[in-house]
Amino acid sequence: MSYTKENITKRKFDVVIIGAGGSGLRAALELSKAGLSVAALSKVFPTRSHTVAAQGGVSASLGNMSPDNWEWHFYDTIKGSDWLGDQDAIEFMCREAPKVVYELEHFGMPFDRNPDGTIYQRPFGGHTANHGEKPVQRACAAADRTGHAMLHTLYQQNVKSKTNFFVEWMALDLIRDESGDVIGVTALELETGDLYELHAKAVLLATGGAGRIFQASTNAFINTGDGLGMAARAGIPLQDMEFWQFHPTGVAGAGVLLTEGCRGEGAILRNSDGERFMERYAPTLKDLAPRDFVSRSMDQEIKEGRGCGPNKDYILLDMTHLGAETIRKRLPSVEEIGHNFANVDITKEPIPVVPTIHYQMGGIPTNINGQVVVWDGQENKVVNGLYAVGECSCVSVHGANRLGTNSLLDLLVFGKSAGKHIVNYVNGYGEFKPMPENASDFSLSRLNKLDESSSGEYAQDVANDIRACMQLHAGVFRTQKSMDEGVKKIADIRARVGGVTLKDKSKVWNTARMEALEVANLIEVAQATMVSAAARKECRGAHTVDDYEHPADDPKYPLGRNDIDWLKHTLWYSAANSLEYKPVQLKPLTVPSVPPKVRTF
Ligand SMILES: Cc1cc2nc3c(=O)[nH]c(=O)nc-3n(C[C@H](O)[C@H](O)[C@H](O)COP(=O)(O)OP(=O)(O)OC[C@H]3O[C@@H](n4cnc5c(N)ncnc54)[C@H](O)[C@@H]3O)c2cc1C
Repeated sequence: MSYTKENITKRKFDVVIIGAGGSGLRAALELSKAGLSVAALSKVFPTRSHTVAAQGGVSASLGNMSPDNWEWHFYDTIKGSDWLGDQDAIEFMCREAPKVVYELEHFGMPFDRNPDGTIYQRPFGGHTANHGEKPVQRACAAADRTGHAMLHTLYQQNVKSKTNFFVEWMALDLIRDESGDVIGVTALELETGDLYELHAKAVLLATGGAGRIFQASTNAFINTGDGLGMAARAGIPLQDMEFWQFHPTGVAGAGVLLTEGCRGEGAILRNSDGERFMERYAPTLKDLAPRDFVSRSMDQEIKEGRGCGPNKDYILLDMTHLGAETIRKRLPSVEEIGHNFANVDITKEPIPVVPTIHYQMGGIPTNINGQVVVWDGQENKVVNGLYAVGECSCVSVHGANRLGTNSLLDLLVFGKSAGKHIVNYVNGYGEFKPMPENASDFSLSRLNKLDESSSGEYAQDVANDIRACMQLHAGVFRTQKSMDEGVKKIADIRARVGGVTLKDKSKVWNTARMEALEVANLIEVAQATMVSAAARKECRGAHTVDDYEHPADDPKYPLGRNDIDWLKHTLWYSAANSLEYKPVQLKPLTVPSVPPKVRTF
């Protein structure tokens, strides 16, 4: 049976949230506590969202184990971002951090404890005391299962406050009315294959990252960038998509993450000479320099022939000196991962690692209330009714490189602030805006095109080609030539996405249909990334291009970067595959600006 207007089911909610990871759940809590009717959709059971895999911690300047304050956190985040982060949003996040972490503690989060009962905190990459003097202990942790503990805590609070969950549902497209306001979404119930039109006063995108546009990734298979695809198709730009974080320690050959918490607890990276090479690259912070820095240093060692193993293509992470007792107490999952994915007993021998794609710094542009904004050349204009939080959004606090543990913090801070803003918005909203007759036509046509196809390519073949292309042309080290080739290849692959076929047309739990729909999102994210990357002619944060490396003493580029031309955010528009730019907000809310300077550690 094909999809028709007549068999669409229609429902109304004050708010529809797409995504039940940490950010979606934190926002949902504000809404259901305020008594709004909330539908939280998720492709998987909420506690299986990728937030569950977060290991290392959530940052907040509690100062439980070493002196700390929010201004040091603010400074580190700006420097970590290579000055591309907006300083107003960063101030807001770092000031709010202790509050939202204590709130989480009071929700029942089982943090590890110090002997005096306070929350245990470990050092993490780029987090320092007194503006870079030495590492500080800022990452609040529950062993190496912080995300697991956090997601379950938030889920339980939502059950208590009676949030409606729509489990195993896939949102397809945003619905905008004539004035451009967002008034709902279309979604598939995966169990039945039925199409729904969900009418809402506000829609919140909390769909997480899109790490699955790369071949080797620490991300869950569901991280296909659906929210970004939905926004791009609805005419909303994607911001700073050239900036993708490579985590230094993915298990070589497997991609599974070994948390930076390993190095926080004292683990050391070694090359084939057994040398602790980070001492050469970052004399002060060493193995705890920010991720872009460490990943590049590792790649450099491999390039110069000091990689380990028969093919000299990985680095060793050595934890043997920490002792089995500390490892079992602080890093129990890492020990398990060692056994299961590398056949290594990390208490006795070092484990092979390589930089692996981990996090997208860019996303759907928002302000600190989670409202989606579009730059009109002069100022940010709010898209009424549309909000975004979490990894799919770009507020932007992470700029060109995120500091470890700042993402879980971002979910809590902006999940809460968006939730609060939505409550006010909905309370002042009045009646539902009328739903246009043709609201679901676009989704219907996408579904029916798949159902009517009798020949064409499998979605997975196209998805695999996207991944291979991104891995090759948008890696740790980039060259202009390779990125330009990538732009052409991705355009060719985009043309193939329209020709994807669905062999199995059945309705009930048809994962092939879901994968075919996901490819339409992967390609938006991949093209945004490739085109934005090829256009940025400088090195900044995670975007390192061989052609534009300048030594810090180059008189033309005294900071190593090109701040004259490129201290600005990228905005990619899908319809014309075109770019615009907007200035970075260098002015914080209340404190003096941190002016751009050289980034050494
Ligand atoms: C292995 C790993 C370890 C990490 N460790 C840390 C750490 O220690 N500290 C830190 O700060 N950060 C860490 N990060 C990053 C951080 O965990 C993520 O950025 C963050 O959890 C993302 O949360 P989110 O709420 O944005 O999305 P997610 O938790 O990814 O949730 C996305 C939700 O959206 C739903 N969804 C997606 N598409 C659709 C659709 N079309 N329809 C319906 N629902 C949809 C999914 O089902 C899911 O519920 C880690 C990341 C990884 C991958």
